[in-house]
Amino acid sequence: MLKIYNTLTRKKEVFHPRRGNAVRMFVCGPTVYDLAHIGHGRTYVIFDVMARYLRFRALPVKYLMNITDLDDKIIARASLLRRSWKSVAREYERTFLKDLGCLGIRSVDRFARATDFIPEIAAQVTLLLQRGIAYRIEGDGIYFDLKKFPRYGLLAHRTATAAEDATSRIDDSVRKRNRGDFCLWKFSRRGEPMWKSTIGPGRPGWHIEDTAITHKIFGPQYDLHGGALDLIFPHHEAEIAQMEAAYRRKPMARFWMHAGFLNVRGGKMGKSKGNFITIRELLDKWPAEAFRVFVLSAHYRSPVDYDANLMAQASSSWERIVDFSDRIGVSRARAGITASQLKNASPALRTAHRAFFRAMDDDLDTPKALAAVFGLIRKLNPSVERTRSSADEHHAVAAFLYDVNTILGILPSKGPKPAIPKEILALAAQRDRLRRARRFTEADALRGLIQKRGWRIEDAARGSRLKREGNNTPRIPSGSPKGRLAKPRPPR
Ligand SMILES: [Zn+2]
Repeated sequence: MLKIYNTLTRKKEVFHPRRGNAVRMFVCGPTVYDLAHIGHGRTYVIFDVMARYLRFRALPVKYLMNITDLDDKIIARASLLRRSWKSVAREYERTFLKDLGCLGIRSVDRFARATDFIPEIAAQVTLLLQRGIAYRIEGDGIYFDLKKFPRYGLLAHRTATAAEDATSRIDDSVRKRNRGDFCLWKFSRRGEPMWKSTIGPGRPGWHIEDTAITHKIFGPQYDLHGGALDLIFPHHEAEIAQMEAAYRRKPMARFWMHAGFLNVRGGKMGKSKGNFITIRELLDKWPAEAFRVFVLSAHYRSPVDYDANLMAQASSSWERIVDFSDRIGVSRARAGITASQLKNASPALRTAHRAFFRAMDDDLDTPKALAAVFGLIRKLNPSVERTRSSADEHHAVAAFLYDVNTILGILPSKGPKPAIPKEILALAAQRDRLRRARRFTEADALRGLIQKRGWRIEDAARGSRLKREGNNTPRIPSGSPKGRLAKPRPPR
């Protein structure tokens, strides 16, 4: 039974979808004005594992993510670069989707751009105006009146009167009724992009895009809303206020999951602080799957401090899993472990299997789940190449690791293996001959030569194997993740 910590109730609760058994899951996407950093990487890996796990447990998932393709930051960036907001937004949308693909994130079913939902946004704002919850400030914008929604602050455990102004420039106005009132629609200003709409020419506020998108695709209520911890207030509170006030149904989302921060050298990442690491930079140095192991080695709700040493540790843990999986033949496994395989398995495998799923069911405790896998590897490693473990046991272990990989996505994705150059193969063969002739000094010299060319030889019981030296396991970028973008509609 899967239990998830629900930010709304501050409790672990049994997770099950509301209607039938399809889980409607929405996670806040990026504002596309710059390259995504490893903090984004952490958040999206976590929700990828959540979606994978639900699907593994036979729950169909409809995973929706918005893309904020118009806001103050994009406008500022575009004017700095003397480009249109649209070309900036589309460029960073492409890099974002590519980064997700490189991180093995293909679980999102649909990406929805804010600017493709302008009519829906206008309709929602109109409804809030009709209900007397939103008000108009001429020459400025349309705002949400926090006094009309007493439940504001329930998710963050704050009250409306303690609310600070939202951080965005779009929410600033001296003529607002209450300090925390946030902007739903900003009337057009000179030099800014604008859309004609039934509520007047302008552009949407930040919070309203999510509820317009989710209402259109899921309806006023859905199962799971995720995002990073810093979005709880005011962003997620504002979403609840808009949706519940407009459609008079509550709760908007039954489960709220928030991912902890990723800090670099003890602090929040910042361009000016020089501790800003983009996903690109990370993937130049480390395999994506090793980063996933880094992320999953901490509980998703805990803060994590990134540093190169911890990443190196995660990478060597990852190599242990990959190495063991190679030897046990996970790539030949076609499916996960069956009930009868499990029944006849060794106590070590049964223990690891139980511990893995118990941990995953306990609020996605991935550090414990990984520990179960490492425990199994430690136990079986010494004997895996001898006949001591039976062929059945081999297959069962491989099938279990196949399941682990389906859920966590930590084994290198199947694709063309890095081609070993002929020259390297010839050197390795020559070295093998020298070793058989017990000419070890010459054999070692050849090993050195092979290493200089970027390859490492590992001698195993059944002959030697070649591996790419260092951590730069070559990868084929997998391109955009699964999902589709609605056809862009130009501003009218
Ligand atoms: Zn959002």
